[in-house]
Amino acid sequence: MSETKKKKGAMDWYFKSNLLARILIGLVLGAVVGIVLGFSPQSVKPFVDNSKFFGDLFVRLLRMIVVPVILFSLVAGAASIAPSRLGKVGIKIMVYYLLTSAFAVAIGLVFANILQPGAGFNVVGDAAIKGRDAAVPTIAQILLNIVPTNPIESLTKGDVLPIIFFAVVFGLGLSYVKDSTNKTLAKAGDMLLDVTNAAAETMYKIVAGIMQYAPIGVFVLIAQVFAQQGPRAIGPLLIVTLTVYIGLLVHLVGVYGGLLSIYKLGFMKFLKGANEAMITAFVTRSSSGTLPITMRCTEEKLGVPRTISSFTLPLGATINMDGTAIYLGVCAMFIGYATGQPLTFNQQLTVIITATLASIGTAGVPGAGAIMLLMVLESIGLKVTEGSAVAAAYAMILGIDALLDMGRTSLNVTGDIAGTAIVAKTEKELDMSFWK
Ligand code: ASP
Repeated sequence: MSETKKKKGAMDWYFKSNLLARILIGLVLGAVVGIVLGFSPQSVKPFVDNSKFFGDLFVRLLRMIVVPVILFSLVAGAASIAPSRLGKVGIKIMVYYLLTSAFAVAIGLVFANILQPGAGFNVVGDAAIKGRDAAVPTIAQILLNIVPTNPIESLTKGDVLPIIFFAVVFGLGLSYVKDSTNKTLAKAGDMLLDVTNAAAETMYKIVAGIMQYAPIGVFVLIAQVFAQQGPRAIGPLLIVTLTVYIGLLVHLVGVYGGLLSIYKLGFMKFLKGANEAMITAFVTRSSSGTLPITMRCTEEKLGVPRTISSFTLPLGATINMDGTAIYLGVCAMFIGYATGQPLTFNQQLTVIITATLASIGTAGVPGAGAIMLLMVLESIGLKVTEGSAVAAAYAMILGIDALLDMGRTSLNVTGDIAGTAIVAKTEKELDMSFWK
């Protein structure tokens, strides 16, 4: 026994210290190591090869837990909320998600007009650069795809929207079984709900465990990005990076800060509760992958009940991408400037609409926004065809996409949390003791 005690003590400096502080140390150290490595290109590949395991491990651990977290939390949530209530929450959160996304594109465009990233670049075509076509799905297709033809298949593939659909329907069904006049059935329904709740709790315990590994995962992931891409962004693409990040910051403080204060929710308290999710999104570059942490923060640190968060957060991780919307606006402007055809006012209006829709269609995985950029460009007549100047400018953006992806994903997740807290507040379901 004394040996186990001793062993425990040996790692106390790690496990007993503040988790956020450890994650931040991992972040800063990772950035420093990455930037230093980036200046000696021959050391980058060995570093990436050798450290890949530790970064991938963090991402895999998170991904492992995504589907069970959504399923159990959402079934339990939907079974415990009246269907009419769920409908009201659904409408509120959809309005919030749509409006904030449209606003985000506009913010991106405003700053791109001021800072004019890419102006004077005169990028020309290069035959070596391949064109890409964007396949634009129809609205009917998008809606139909939400209904799974086989829920088990959606679960195994991790298709979030069909899983949400099925889990909500299952939860609603369960709520009727619970209230059945048949006593045996009602008892079994109650038991099933208890089991689902316990399963959801178990998942949150696992998430808490995974977070203990986060500082190491964060360090490795950040070091890799900076080693591979840092110096490139310090060149001519610095203005794009700056414009995107200024847009992200303004949206964070102006839109979320403003909306939260309208609903009398402190911005600092909000950031304190959301920071683990914001950092995890930053380093994993995946809203979906971050979802378990997002749900944990919202419930355990911001006092949102599971009946609301279990529905709004998986939905937000899939369709609400304010950071991506800003990125799409700025990059469309950059490509216009860089190829000597700055976007007209009408083109910018088109971008607001297409980028909002594109952000909804963006999957919560690394780099997905860059694919949707093709669709936005196409809508304003800037086709990424083989060898064209537009393709060359697009390729430049791809070169630094990881850096842009970190910030935009972090904002994507933050927007989901802010919306969830606000909707919970308007539903009088927010535990205000968390905000004191
Ligand atoms: N990586 C982003 C996310 O997961 C999506 C994007 O590429 O814009 O939210």
